[in-house]
Amino acid sequence: MARYIGPVCKLCRRENVKLFLKGDRCYTDKCAFDRRPYPPGQHGQRRSKFTEYGVRLREKQKVRRIYGVLERQFRKYFHEADRTKGVTGEQLLGLLERRLDSACYRLGFAATRSEGRQLVRHKHVMVNGHVVNIPSYLVKPGDKITLHERSRAQARVTTSVEGVERRGVPSWLELDKGSLTGSVKMMPVREEITLPIQEQLIVEFYSR
Ligand code: SF4
Repeated sequence: MARYIGPVCKLCRRENVKLFLKGDRCYTDKCAFDRRPYPPGQHGQRRSKFTEYGVRLREKQKVRRIYGVLERQFRKYFHEADRTKGVTGEQLLGLLERRLDSACYRLGFAATRSEGRQLVRHKHVMVNGHVVNIPSYLVKPGDKITLHERSRAQARVTTSVEGVERRGVPSWLELDKGSLTGSVKMMPVREEITLPIQEQLIVEFYSR
């Protein structure tokens, strides 16, 4: 599946919120959003007022960008969430959180979700003892996520795991730092997605 490969700091500035797409850099004073907290482009500093549609669109784009998913796939997630029992918005976020690249990020194996995606694509990640190279693979309770033996000593992995305390591992996952193994204990919990997301607006966007 295709992915966005353009500049990511522009995305934070466009969405007017820090999306933490660059790992450690996001926590330093080099953060582009901290330096220029207005939308990119020639007219970025103009005051803009969104229509109702615009507000919903921006919310949808924001979540898509956080998880690195393109429109077609995101729409599929929405339809799947809509079919599932429960609150559609929460189901949608749950599906996105359960993606293997996102789970690797949440466990601290990668500094960002896009790095998690690369780990998966390059066959560094195993689920229940088998290599899985599909970033959109959905993990489920009982799954064991681990890194291939040859990949555990990679500097980017060790640095990222060391820094995982700053983000914290969500309660639906459990990390054994020694063996670099993560276990999925239950389905994702909405309260632990701390980025400012109003999923109801996404539901309204697709229900218009
Ligand atoms: Fe966004 Fe700042 Fe991180 Fe760039 S450095 S991705 S602007 S949070």
